Amino acid sequence: MDWDLTSFFPSVESAEYGRFREALERTADALRPRVEALALEPAAGEEAWVCLLLDIEDFQARLSHLGAYLSCLTAADTANEAATTAESAYAELRARAETIGEGIVAALGRAPEATLEAVLRDKRLEGAEFYVRETKSLAAHRMDLPRESLNAALSVNGTKAWNQLYARLSGELTFPIRKADGAEERVPMARRANLLASPARALREAAFTGGNEAWAGYETVCERALNAIAGARLTLDRERGVEHFLDNACRSARIRRETLDAMFTAIGDAAPALQRLAAYRAELLGEPRASYRDLAAPAFTPPEDEPPMEWEEGCRLIGDAFAAAYPALGAFFHESLAARWYDHTPRPSKRPGGFCTTSRLSGENRVYMTYEADLGSVLTLAHEVGHAWHSRILRGARPFASGYPMTLAESASTFAEMILVEGVMQSDAFSVGRKRALLDTDLRRAVIFTLELPVRFHFEKRFYEERRDGFVPARRLRELMVAEQKRSFGVTLGEDGADPLFWASKQHFYADAVMFYNFPYTFGYLLSQSLFARFREQGPSFLGEYESFLAQSGSMRCEDLIRESLGESIDEPAFWFRALSPLQSLPPALEALRTDGGGG
Ligand SMILES: [Zn+2]
Repeated sequence: MDWDLTSFFPSVESAEYGRFREALERTADALRPRVEALALEPAAGEEAWVCLLLDIEDFQARLSHLGAYLSCLTAADTANEAATTAESAYAELRARAETIGEGIVAALGRAPEATLEAVLRDKRLEGAEFYVRETKSLAAHRMDLPRESLNAALSVNGTKAWNQLYARLSGELTFPIRKADGAEERVPMARRANLLASPARALREAAFTGGNEAWAGYETVCERALNAIAGARLTLDRERGVEHFLDNACRSARIRRETLDAMFTAIGDAAPALQRLAAYRAELLGEPRASYRDLAAPAFTPPEDEPPMEWEEGCRLIGDAFAAAYPALGAFFHESLAARWYDHTPRPSKRPGGFCTTSRLSGENRVYMTYEADLGSVLTLAHEVGHAWHSRILRGARPFASGYPMTLAESASTFAEMILVEGVMQSDAFSVGRKRALLDTDLRRAVIFTLELPVRFHFEKRFYEERRDGFVPARRLRELMVAEQKRSFGVTLGEDGADPLFWASKQHFYADAVMFYNFPYTFGYLLSQSLFARFREQGPSFLGEYESFLAQSGSMRCEDLIRESLGESIDEPAFWFRALSPLQSLPPALEALRTDGGGG
């Protein structure tokens, strides 16, 4: 391992670790009866409330310390048995923490307003009001505790079981890839995404067709799973007094319905311009129209004779780009490298993917990734450093004020990526070929975030609307899917360019814990576009506003946060319309590089 985890614990088998975990378990044991007592007698003394809230906050911070440590250990070495064992003990502890969390929702829900006001006036809870109020507001949409407990127990064999069935199916499913010589090879479904991102058209076609052939064979299973998960949710909503299924998604995104509608209104109004981006990409790929086969395909790949970009060089590149545009971020990056916060070298026992994890106890981060010595890896690194910077800015905030929603999670990471891309584009040290590949990645992402993710949102919304009236068969799911794809991509989408089985192959629709796992991505992407456009316009003086935005991201609703820190109204389509406009500069920028010739 490259990183230094000893500031967390000497090892997972150390006495320090054991003592830390045991203390957490004792706290969990002690908290539960206290929460239950307050739920029964919510008008009890203010001191009892203040102490309980402080203890819960401390408990959560210590739990995140343990969780961050274990996620690092298990990702960096999947064969680490001691860590895997510790992780299952941790999962149990988390389940208990969730029960305590539900108890506190119920207790706060019953607390008289006068008691709560007195509690929140206490100096020890300064900055915790948002968290406490949000938690209390959850109680309005909960059943009583015994029924919630029964639901949690039943979900193991209900929604969670359907989700696991789907996960099992997609894990075991294989599909045929036909080669030019007629030979057939069966490939695991997990490899499909990679093949769809291949520069070779024939390979993409084979993965698209073969993959859908496999999914078509299990359409009934997917149809049943999807209907069961959605049906159970709608029943729960009714029992919990949730008016509309989108209310839940908006609440966890910390936005209002008006804001969601404003964003999609702007995207709808900008459709012709966005569709031109998809058409331009099809042209770059040498295709007459856009197709789901080609959404992930690169139009340009970096020239093969480019030397690999080793770790030190990648770090220097990021360090230089940050230092030039945002010195504080550059200094933070160097500091984190010196503290050895990164695990980056490729090893066979590593888990795929990348993440940045935070301990809310110590405020420390660790970044995990597999650095492949190419520009894509450098981008990933810059992205994760952006996340780490977000938590550095939040370090002064209390744990209750440092949890931010998914809608805001990607702002800092994308912002950091954009600084890097700008640095690369302005540098003479990069070949035209590399710059072209980088801009092409940007264009591909623009199409995904503004045309393809909205398809997922509108499909899911229409599906839930129809599910309210009964079972929605596979035939109808295909129809809805294709209709939304055609609506979003418009005439740009080729006759056979749609993917009627996307509802079956996309795992996000089957998640048991969250629904509408799509619009927060588009929200975050467009918000970053807007932030970066402001930075370009205002220059370094914008960074103060940016940091105040990050610093308050854990303690405000999105509308208030963005109005206060940036002076913008995100519940108006005009904001989103402006956020979309920088995307139009991508085709001309790419054109300029195409005619630029040199560099290969
Ligand atoms: Zn991220």
